[in-house]
Amino acid sequence: MPTNIPAELDHPTFRLAVAQFDQAVQHMALDPNMLERLKSPQRALAVSVPVRMDDGRVEVFRGYRVQHDLSRGPTKGGIRYHPDVTLGEVSALAMWMTWKTALAGLPFGGAKGGVAVNPTCLTTGELERLTRRYIAEIFPFLGPDKDIPAPDVGTNAQTMAWIMDTYSQQVGFSVRDVVTGKPLSIGGSLGREEATGRGVVDITMEVLHYFHFDLSDTTVVIEGFGNVGSHAARILYEEGAKVIGISDRFGGLYNPKGLDIPAIITERKKEKPPLPSLTQFGESILHEDLLTLPCRVLIPAALAEQITSTNAPKIQCQFLIEGANGPTTLAADSILHDRGIMVIPDIVANAGGVIVSYFEWAQDAQRFSWEEAHIHSRLQSIITKAFNRILQQAEDKKITMRTAALIAGIEEVAMAHECRGLYP
Ligand code: GLU
Repeated sequence: MPTNIPAELDHPTFRLAVAQFDQAVQHMALDPNMLERLKSPQRALAVSVPVRMDDGRVEVFRGYRVQHDLSRGPTKGGIRYHPDVTLGEVSALAMWMTWKTALAGLPFGGAKGGVAVNPTCLTTGELERLTRRYIAEIFPFLGPDKDIPAPDVGTNAQTMAWIMDTYSQQVGFSVRDVVTGKPLSIGGSLGREEATGRGVVDITMEVLHYFHFDLSDTTVVIEGFGNVGSHAARILYEEGAKVIGISDRFGGLYNPKGLDIPAIITERKKEKPPLPSLTQFGESILHEDLLTLPCRVLIPAALAEQITSTNAPKIQCQFLIEGANGPTTLAADSILHDRGIMVIPDIVANAGGVIVSYFEWAQDAQRFSWEEAHIHSRLQSIITKAFNRILQQAEDKKITMRTAALIAGIEEVAMAHECRGLYP
């Protein structure tokens, strides 16, 4: 059990992030003074977001923006709209962004934001007003050289467009590089929307190649069919893998012969029917049964703490590739390790999103846009380099990929702190 968690940050996901950190630093000779500095966020802002609802009432939502570490550059990380958002959860996600950006060699520290709201219960007008007021409240934190938001669970390119507009209205001119994951017409990048899913696929291919497996005889199960899961499923299908199981918040869909992913995506575009209702493509299956299907690759691409000590003993994949942030609990991690299942941790596996966010930010600053093929190949080169470096370290030091990845990220950040010194 990790110690020294400030009461206001206490949350299962923050405890998980700190426990992972504590486990990794056992393998490092980190100065204890540094250790405490890296464990909790450098800055956190909690705001009230009053929104005029369509029926005339004013509802007040809780919002947060957390900047975990500013030592290596401006901070970067998504904004999440979900009813369970708390300061502790956002702080954990911000900490993971710090290690993720450091590991990929991006010139950012980690941040995350969120509003405790169920976006599916709000109208478009309500969502726009919520976004604009939330951004107005956290405005002093934001800026292209300060902190750059992006999409996360429950937000998308439209949300980012409202953010770009609200920020620009406040300063009086258009600022494209204050946010990433925007629509192309206001400085978004080609390839950004699918980037996290594409990065997961780049990693999957690299893992299979390293262990001499063919993608064409690889079965894949994906938990979550949002921005990460649906693009990963589509690209894996296009590359020739057999995607046998997918799920959304209503349950799963299973077909041992392989699901027709493009047809499912087309069907979902109409009225967004729940996946388990699409029985023309496969049989409906319970969420918990989906996670334990026999397959070569399991990709959790939904929320945190889905792989637990309860289902980890029953999981039947060879490789678990974390598309979501924090999908595996600490107890599940060690069960999977003992069972010989290789876990490719989130801070490597889902880094594709922030890598292409970095490209978007750089293109906006350069006033120059890159070709899509260039973006795909630069993404693949950065993410596979990070993966191979971590794999090598895990094998050399006989530690898990997660520990190796955390050590690499923490070392990078500690080095920045050391050479900058402690102010004042
Ligand atoms: N929300 C994404 C993540 O968790 C992307 C963050 C970004 O692009 O800044 O990595």
